[in-house]
Amino acid sequence: MPVDLIVRNGNVVTPRDVTRAAVAIDKGRVVAIGDESILPPGRKTIDVKGNHILPGVIDPHFHPWTIERYPYECRTETRAAAAGGVTTLGIFLITRREDGPLKGIEEGKRVFEENGIVDAFFHVFARPGDQLGFSQMPDCPSLGVTSFKVSAAEATVDDVSRFTIFEQIAKMGGINRAMVHCENWDLAAVLRERLIKAGRMDFPAWNDSRPNFVEAESMMRNIYFSKITGCPIYIVHITIKEGVDILAQGKADGVDVIGETCAQYLTHTSQDRGLLADNPPLGRVNPPLRARADNDRLWQGIKDGIIDTMGSDHIGYTLKDKEGIMWDAPRGLGNLTEMQLPVLISEGVNKGRITLPKVVEVACQNPAMTFGLYPRKGALNVGSDADLVVVDLNKKVNVSWKMLHSLSDWSIWEGWEFKGWPVLTMRRGEVIVEDGKILASDGSGKYIPSPYL
Ligand SMILES: [Zn+2]
Repeated sequence: MPVDLIVRNGNVVTPRDVTRAAVAIDKGRVVAIGDESILPPGRKTIDVKGNHILPGVIDPHFHPWTIERYPYECRTETRAAAAGGVTTLGIFLITRREDGPLKGIEEGKRVFEENGIVDAFFHVFARPGDQLGFSQMPDCPSLGVTSFKVSAAEATVDDVSRFTIFEQIAKMGGINRAMVHCENWDLAAVLRERLIKAGRMDFPAWNDSRPNFVEAESMMRNIYFSKITGCPIYIVHITIKEGVDILAQGKADGVDVIGETCAQYLTHTSQDRGLLADNPPLGRVNPPLRARADNDRLWQGIKDGIIDTMGSDHIGYTLKDKEGIMWDAPRGLGNLTEMQLPVLISEGVNKGRITLPKVVEVACQNPAMTFGLYPRKGALNVGSDADLVVVDLNKKVNVSWKMLHSLSDWSIWEGWEFKGWPVLTMRRGEVIVEDGKILASDGSGKYIPSPYL
């Protein structure tokens, strides 16, 4: 019996190895992988010409900017994600306070499925005082949401609230997990006031206002609360060299803690010249871009298996959105999700820092496992969704925001020479991007409940 599609002449990358193989796909799922001679015939074939085939990237860290712009961004920003080899996005859903998360999840799902071209799962915010605080949280898993973002701002979530939210999640059990942004907000507020008084407006001042210890202290506190309450946690965007050791210590202590970093914290620093130094509001991101020693230690942490996952922390900011002075501009960098895999390939694999199997581990397998999507997502196993990205390791690209697909009209990698680039993205057996051209129609993406069975 012929199958729908054979992807042939490729090198299939798993977290263990790289194998010359073809992939047989039927009804949107992988049905066999192996030497082409032993696979069933395909009604269609795609020849990937010796390039590498990776599972589609799971980017677990994506932000719509506002609830108003969410429908539009579901179109534009999922195109950007797809072009970067991402086939599943973890979206930090914004819900209206008066609606509560349950109505918000239903609405978020409907809007996403009308507009998005990749698949998506959701995280919701746990804020005390919201319905979510404590009454609706236990109902979220029935709608496929099992991850709860606890805000960093102590003004919103003080230690008592944090502790209580952790207790609640621990009680819910299963794969439910708190996601924590680690910065001591009170300390940062005081340091910031000092710098404003001193007249600082420069880009490095942002890092000076929330230095490494502000993040380190919060990481230790969150891990400690996790240990005491038994609440599994996911630390988003680790940026500091100390963070690798703190994470390793937490794991050694038996805490269920998963650590994420982002591409921008591997390639950029607060001392960089150029775009961000010239436009400090653009570089205002929490936590800040750090120093070269932090970049290096984070790469090492990925290589050593201490840092578990990569997330983009993408927001579709335009230059106009980021107008203002540094101290008040909207927080976050634009245009990240499309660049995550290229950074891992060009700066990571092609510069000898990490291997291709490691890329699959941190960008596909581990995020899928953490959020209950594995092995349907994040793997190319028999039975997995046929989500894959073909990477040409030798393709040279001079990056400009103009060639990227986000709403963002800027990129922190503007002018960088990249070697290695995704050339084809497939989602559930459908080619959605080829050579940078978007082929999928709006609304072909699906909401994926966690766990995804
Ligand atoms: Zn974020």
